[in-house]
Formats: sequence, structure tokens, C-alpha cells
Amino acid sequence: MELDSLGNLQRTDSCGALTLKDVGRSVTLMGWVDVRRDLGNLIFVDLRDREGITQVVFKQDVSGEAHARAKELRSEYVAAVEGQVVARALETVNPALSTGEVEVQARRLWILNDAQTPPFQVSDAAKASEDIRLKYRFLDLRRPKMQRTFRLRHQAMLEIRTYLDSKGFLEIETPILTKSTPEGARDYLVPSRVQPERFYALPQSPQLFKQILMMSGFDKYFQIVRCFRDEDLRADRQPEFTQVDLEMSFVQPDQIFTLIEPLLQRVFRLVGTEVPLPFPRLTYDEALRRFGSDKPDLRFSVELQDLSPLFKDSEFRVFRSIVEEGGVAKAIAAPGGAKYSRRELEIFADVVKQLGATGLAWIKAADGEISSSLPKVVLETRLRQMLSACGAAQGDLLLVVAGAPKVVAESLGALRVHLSKQEQWADPRAFQFLWVTDFPLFEWSEEENRYVSCNHPFTAPVEQDLDRLESDPARVKSKAYDVVLNGTEIGGGSIRIHRSDLQQRVFRALGISDEEAERRFGFFLEALKYGTPPHGGIALGLDRIIMLMAGESSIRDVIAFPKTARGTDLMTESPAEVSPEQLRELKIRFEK
Ligand code: ASP
Repeated sequence: MELDSLGNLQRTDSCGALTLKDVGRSVTLMGWVDVRRDLGNLIFVDLRDREGITQVVFKQDVSGEAHARAKELRSEYVAAVEGQVVARALETVNPALSTGEVEVQARRLWILNDAQTPPFQVSDAAKASEDIRLKYRFLDLRRPKMQRTFRLRHQAMLEIRTYLDSKGFLEIETPILTKSTPEGARDYLVPSRVQPERFYALPQSPQLFKQILMMSGFDKYFQIVRCFRDEDLRADRQPEFTQVDLEMSFVQPDQIFTLIEPLLQRVFRLVGTEVPLPFPRLTYDEALRRFGSDKPDLRFSVELQDLSPLFKDSEFRVFRSIVEEGGVAKAIAAPGGAKYSRRELEIFADVVKQLGATGLAWIKAADGEISSSLPKVVLETRLRQMLSACGAAQGDLLLVVAGAPKVVAESLGALRVHLSKQEQWADPRAFQFLWVTDFPLFEWSEEENRYVSCNHPFTAPVEQDLDRLESDPARVKSKAYDVVLNGTEIGGGSIRIHRSDLQQRVFRALGISDEEAERRFGFFLEALKYGTPPHGGIALGLDRIIMLMAGESSIRDVIAFPKTARGTDLMTESPAEVSPEQLRELKIRFEK
């Protein structure tokens, strides 16, 4: 088909701008054809750009030649229209559009480009399968919802930069081609052509560089930065993601908290939410004890109750011996839960078993009767004691797990989350932040048969626990903290080790030999010796924050060009094979 050229034609307005105030004006709009409705004498075209949609009418008598040309328009054609803004008749006003009270009566039309028939209508893309949307991401991104999300993302980044600048932070870039950094995932490697058999690693985070910037006297650093982690991808993970990374010198955790809280408050104002400050704080131990999670969703108040004292010298041998051997029996009360069917109770049991619990017991109070899955030896007075300890009333259900404290906490914590989703306990519009503090420094890894860092090996232990570093590492607490929103960890950080002798002790406790530490982090250990100030910082997960702000359920919807759960970019089809010449230059050969 014959296309028109743009020439000197200029837009006067966006497709989202016109209102009754503009009636009578001559305007020129440019954009994409969202839909065309051809009624013969009348052709309606919804013209779309980044800002919105405007209805354009081609009338045979008024628009003449343009009317004839408009017959050629199809979805996603690119067009320019010149015409007059008129008010719509009352019955044709479209309240769903910001421009819905007006339309443009076209006088001239330029078809600037045609388009193949799209695999899905842009306005209906939400109904297309995600794979198709990702393959045709350029079309998917034309959706108004997407355009809003990426505007929000831009505004949030701008707000963060403005705020941190006002607090004296400098944005400093750190390398992408670098050496392995220690966040506990696998590295993405990039082979060096100039130095065969050597590799760069893509940064899992700028951790070591930001600490070195503190050693270099920069005092307050931040960066909105891409990080790369080669993990087995789960639904909410991406191999590359964006962090708001920052570091400060001469600080304690409190100063990080009072810096970050107003930052998040400002960012959330962008979606019309006023987040109250300060955020509540829970220690890791308390979070686990009360909610069975180190990232509890505090939008609903159901808590784990400890029933162990009731079994200390009880008639029920199974629970009694668990408690005597250092285990616990805990419960959550599900309000109105007496209604659950046998099938539902089986599903709940599966939830706790997946986290290592041996089983799930229940106690029901309904119709003035008490029933239970516990064996008959358990006295009814005991059941009543349990119900009242949990504040359970008629119609409620108690769900009980007994076993090792960690297993009980985590399995009931997972059940608490499962029930909250099923019963919609949480207000979907609420934003409930909290800090979780005092994480353990180490956790035991069965897989590696050694202690590993809960955070990373540069996190400082609390002073009171320093003597335990060698003798009782499991009980050493750290100066690490997470910020949690609605049950999702949205950031974490710590005060760092700033003395090289302590850093060496922590490496040894982790089973990292002096030689290995030297090989992996020699440059860092060297820098540590030349006057390192006390320092600490945090990194916030920007993608997750935007996801929660935009009310999206997938992180892929807030990343312009995301990858699938298998790490594929369906649009570019990466990862991809490379040419034999490229491999030869890199001296890479594949094993058969
Ligand atoms: N580097 C850490 C991370 O990426 C954050 C921090 O400790 O500041 O999780």
C-alpha cells in the first residue's frame, strides 16, 4: 500500500490529552490504530499513543478523501490525523477514557506505516498466553497497563535518586565485568578473548565494590544497579534484576532504618499510599516464634501459639516426649475453620509435611461439641485448654504441629500463609512494612556439611557474641536486617566487618581457608588493612517493590524485557548458539 511521509507534520496533542476544554480546536494527533469500526458513512478509529486513546471519526461528507483512506486502516497501523475536537453526544460519552467526552472529526489522514495482523489485539493482550506476549513483547508493551507500569517504575527511580541525592549520596557505577562476588548463587561467566582460559564474572551484587568505596572515603554511595544470579529459577526470580544498592560509613542499623523508611514512604506516595513511620521491628527469633517466618505478612494477626507447657506431663505420650526432648507443640487458630472438609484438612497436612512436619493434628469447636484428630487418650479438658490458650471460639479450628522447633515454626508459618491466601485474610490494598533484625550469622548447611553465612561473609557479628565465633557459631547473632512488605522480603543489608582480624575469623568459621580467602577476595582483604571505617548498607529489590506497588503478581510484568522461568528471552531467543569463529577466538571447545 502507499504510505504517506511525515514531512513537516507536527503533533499538537497526545492521544490522552483532549477534554471538553479543547472543543473547537484544530488538532493533529499521531499514534497507533487500536481498533477501527466501519459503519459505512461513518468510520470510528481509536487512536492510541503512550498517553491514552482518542476516538477519531471519519464522516463521508466532512472528511471526504480522508474517509475513503480510513477504510484502509487496520489495527496497529501508524497514522496521523488532523481534525477538529467536538463534544460527544451525551449517550456516546465513554467514561473509561480520559478523553471520553470528546472526539476528533477528521479532515485529513496520513497513513505513516502499515502493520501485519498482530497475533493478539493489543487491547486484549492480557488474555493472550504469556509466552505469546513475551515473544511479541514489542506489542505487549503497547498496552496502556504496561505503559503505566513503566512510567511508575521511572518515577520511582527518579524519586529514589532525588531523595538519596538530598541526603548526600553519590551514585557511582561499579563494573559489570568483574570477579566472582559472594551472594551464594552461581555466577554468570564471560570468557576473555584477550586472555584465553580466563573469565569475568557478572556481579551478583556490588557488595565488595561498595565496601571498597567506603574504604576510599566516599562515605555515602548508592547505585540503581543490575545484578546477575544464576539460580534455578523460581516463579518470582529473574537471572538479572535491579537493586537499589547503598552503603554508608560510621553508621549503626538505626541510621539505615531512618534513611530507608522515608525513602519507601515517598516512593509509595506515587501510588497514593501514605505509609506510617516508623516501621515495626521484630527480631528474627521473635518473627519465627510468633509467625513462623522471617518475612511475616503482618496484614493479618493470626499468630503461632505455643502449647508445649500443656504437654509437659500430659497423658499424651507422643507430644509429651517431643516436648521433653526439646521439641515444641504449636498451633494456629483458623477463625471459622470448623467448616473445613476432610479433603481440605488433608491439603493443610500436605503443606506442613512439605516442610518436614510428621503430621498435622486438628481440634474443632462446633455446635457446642469438641472434636479432634488426636487419639482418645487426650482428655477433653486438655482440648479445651488448648482451644482457650489460642483464643479459639465456637466455629474455629486449631491446627497443631509438634516436633523440632524450626520445623514446627516453618511448617505452621507456611500453613498460616496458605490459609491467608485461601481465606483472603489480607487486605490486598494494604502495605504493611516491617524490619526483621538480629539474624543469625551462620546457618548449618547439610549439603555442604559446614556453616554458611545467612547473609554474606562480610556481615558483622554482634559484639556480645564475638567469643562464641569459634566455640558456638550457631548461636552468634549478626547485625543483619531485612525489610519486609506484605510477606515479601524487599531488601536486606547489614553492618559490615571492618577489621581484618575479625574478617579472617569469620572466614575460618565458614571453613574458608586463608589460601582460598586470599584467592577469592585477596584484593578486598588487602584494602581492609588500609584504614577501613565502620560501615554498613542495604540493597532493595526494585523489581519486587514496583511489582507490589503496581499490584502485579509477576515480576515479569514490571521488567521491560524479562526472561521466562527457564531463563529464555522469547523475543530475542537468547541464550543462543554462537558462531564457530567466536568460539575459536575464545578457544572454547565443547565436550561431546
Ligand atoms: N549485597 C547484599 C545483597 O545483594 C545487600 C547488602 O548487604 O547490602 O543482598
